[in-house]
Amino acid sequence: MSTAPAPQNLSLVARDLGVVWHPCTQMHDHETIPMLAIERAEGAWLHATDGRRYLDAVSSWWTNVFGHRHPRIVAGLKDQLDRLDHIMLAGMTHEPAVSLAEKLIEVAPAGLSRVFYADNGSSAVEVALKMSFHYWRNQGRPARTRFIALSGGYHGETIGALSVTDVALYRATYAPLLFAPILAPSPDAYLGAIGESARDHAARRLLDMRALLQRHAHEVAAIIIEPLVQCAGGMRMHHADYVRGLRALCDEFSVHLIADEIAVGFGRTGSLFACEQASITPDFLCLSKGLTGGTLPLSAVLTNDAVHAAFYAEYSAGKAFLHSHSYTGNALACRAALETLAIFNEQPVLASNRTLSAHLGKRLAALADHANVADVRQTGMIAAVELVRDRRTREEFPAAERRGLRVYLHGLERGVILRPLGNVVYFMPPYCVSTAEIDLMVDAAIEGIERAVA
Ligand code: PMP
Repeated sequence: MSTAPAPQNLSLVARDLGVVWHPCTQMHDHETIPMLAIERAEGAWLHATDGRRYLDAVSSWWTNVFGHRHPRIVAGLKDQLDRLDHIMLAGMTHEPAVSLAEKLIEVAPAGLSRVFYADNGSSAVEVALKMSFHYWRNQGRPARTRFIALSGGYHGETIGALSVTDVALYRATYAPLLFAPILAPSPDAYLGAIGESARDHAARRLLDMRALLQRHAHEVAAIIIEPLVQCAGGMRMHHADYVRGLRALCDEFSVHLIADEIAVGFGRTGSLFACEQASITPDFLCLSKGLTGGTLPLSAVLTNDAVHAAFYAEYSAGKAFLHSHSYTGNALACRAALETLAIFNEQPVLASNRTLSAHLGKRLAALADHANVADVRQTGMIAAVELVRDRRTREEFPAAERRGLRVYLHGLERGVILRPLGNVVYFMPPYCVSTAEIDLMVDAAIEGIERAVA
């Protein structure tokens, strides 16, 4: 094995392109698209090695809720490092894992009473799917092997999570490897009929769901949704009535409800959890991303006593849940999550977000009548602009034209990280962002959109 030091005469980017394979990237793109070498981050800003700085308008893939290197999380992590780094969570426990489970149960919708840890969002979804299936098996209902997912939904890219994902970009290539979910039409308000309110569209989609359940409930373990906002599918938003109605249908047909709040949890939609806005408790609540304030990978699946009880038996009954990740309940990550919850507890985060999101909405209103904008939508600290060739017909720009990429490149020129999802330009800033920084990111986006549609 070579032990030669890194060739110091090469730039970090050149060294990177020689050895690193990046996620969600056609590596060839980097022959023309710049790679940013970031050496430091603070608050909403990323500082590059060339002295430039960039506003993190997408919170580093939606993980970073309070800004980078929040002093409270940094101090907690330093303290934790001096005590305990990581141990396996089988046969052992530690203070951060227990305290975090206690605190999550305290703040989560009522009735969730057990926490299973994993280490990223996709793994949390795998856990929820397996746990739901296994619950029914332990209950003597082994025929419940299928899942209902929504069109346009995204739940991660491991094989199980990708199976319940309906975003063609991520799914199509791997389709032969995946299990087939039962797909229900999304309540996405953008897809409603002309003149139909988000609420009416939600009601209509609940009728579709009822029909699906009438046909399939006997073979369905759970329905999985991203409550209020289907994020990776294009920041598509739906009325809270849908989530409320879904809970009622799940109860009526004895099917589990899995709420994937990996992206929308931790204040993103205006409440700590999106499910609160529908006043419901899911059977499984998947959390990750903002859970550690965007510092370390960690995820958690919260469930209820009834689910836990279905696995609790003498060893010989063979009912135990079978799922293990080496880094389950990592002590450092749990500590970062505890500090994150403490910040929510001690600071008026949600109230301050209301002011920020109102400002963001006001600034984006300028785009509402743009000839190439079919929709400007917002739920709390998520806002999105749907670019189209023609707003009257909603004719889309072909994906191959990569209009969103032009917005991204313009953003870089202006020192703002905007990373459109296809033709959807969106904003998901850390909550420490100022109104002036919101102005900067909206200005950069509006200019970028003008260039992209020209
Ligand atoms: N579910 C949702 C709703 C997500 O947005 C994501 C990530 N974008 C995931 C699951 C997967 O999380 P991870 O990338 O940590 O695997």
